[in-house]
Amino acid sequence: MELFFTPSSCINDETLELTDQEARHFAQVFRKREGDSFWVTDGEGTLYTAQCVSIGKRTVEARISKRTFTGQTPPHTILAIGVLKKKDRLETAIEKAVELGVSGIILLNTQHTEKGGISEQRLRSICISAIKQSQRVWLPAIHVNLKPDDVLRQFPDHRYIIAHEKGNDNTPIRELTTGSKDILFIGPEGGFSPSEVDMIRTSGGVIVSLGDYRLRAETAAIAGLSQLLI
Ligand code: SAH
Repeated sequence: MELFFTPSSCINDETLELTDQEARHFAQVFRKREGDSFWVTDGEGTLYTAQCVSIGKRTVEARISKRTFTGQTPPHTILAIGVLKKKDRLETAIEKAVELGVSGIILLNTQHTEKGGISEQRLRSICISAIKQSQRVWLPAIHVNLKPDDVLRQFPDHRYIIAHEKGNDNTPIRELTTGSKDILFIGPEGGFSPSEVDMIRTSGGVIVSLGDYRLRAETAAIAGLSQLLI
């Protein structure tokens, strides 16, 4: 069955509403009709089964027949990725990270970050599409414009994993033990500066290798997250 998204503010005890893009998708892309059943998530862990009552121009009203809350299960893994100059590559990294099951996305402003980036609204809509695609019920938390030291300050209880291509003593990522709250740091096109790597390492970060070859940032993100999340 198809999964739609609506924020908890559009959900009442017995009814819910899809609005704007979700309502258009419902009627025009999926060609749903009154009486049809469908799934909805609020992105906060609840899956609703609903039946369409009416289709308006910009809203779809539905009656809730079932609600199931799913507690968020570990691992809690956040992707912290340097803002990439090429917007489509950054969007790919985020989409794939959400499909793989990250609990959060941090867009990093690093020393080698060039101008670029995507708006928070665009980021949210990529995340919403990706949770629907992968039929997830938790929408990752989004943090934009954090410097690496902001991340260390704001997430003191996480394990920091820095994907870094240089150095012979990097730990292969598959050798890490699982189960903790992780932040995987992936650099922008220009990589992390030596002082950024040092700072994260001094705060307990572990430097990991994703193999002997230089990957593009979005490939590195997918490769690293696959190891941590699947
Ligand atoms: N020119 C940059 C390359 C950046 S690649 C440099 O010299 O540092 C973008 C990011 O992808 C890197 O910062 C790193 O986080 C990750 N990455 C790419 N290949 C990797 C590898 N083989 N092992 C670990 N991380 C890698």
